[in-house]
Amino acid sequence: MADNWTVVAYAVGRRGQETPGIDPRYARFRLNVAASRIQGWGVFAGEAIPARRKVIEYTGERLTPEEAQERLLRPQHYLFVINDNLIVDGAVNGSGAQYINHSCDPNLCIQVAKGHILLMSLRAIEPGEELSYDYRFRPSALRNVCSCGAPNCRGSINPGL
Ligand SMILES: [Zn+2]
Repeated sequence: MADNWTVVAYAVGRRGQETPGIDPRYARFRLNVAASRIQGWGVFAGEAIPARRKVIEYTGERLTPEEAQERLLRPQHYLFVINDNLIVDGAVNGSGAQYINHSCDPNLCIQVAKGHILLMSLRAIEPGEELSYDYRFRPSALRNVCSCGAPNCRGSINPGL
């Protein structure tokens, strides 16, 4: 599996909306959506999660590259781009994993298995801890200032910028 995936996420107008939820069919642990200190909504562990476990699957509508280009114009999209054959928009039928924020010091990593995008724990995660992974915005994408707050924050969600 090529290791060239990226996330393209953009969401507006989230204030005043109902708190989004987690679809328990795709989560292996109790998870909660709540306001994040990083940005907007975030996903938090509702119980202890051991290291190297599947935490949640990132689901959504599967798009062709052409559909993905149009989707970028929508005010809310959470595109997970594995490659041209696997682009998922978590804004449509998302499991809730689309609300997990970026961090430069993440506690989750991505594993792609048989067309499924799995978020795995990198280390033990305590109840109440916010979940995060590295979005790896492409260097060619607009530079996004990072506000993850990690001591080793690289300052940008795009690596190398
Ligand atoms: Zn950061």
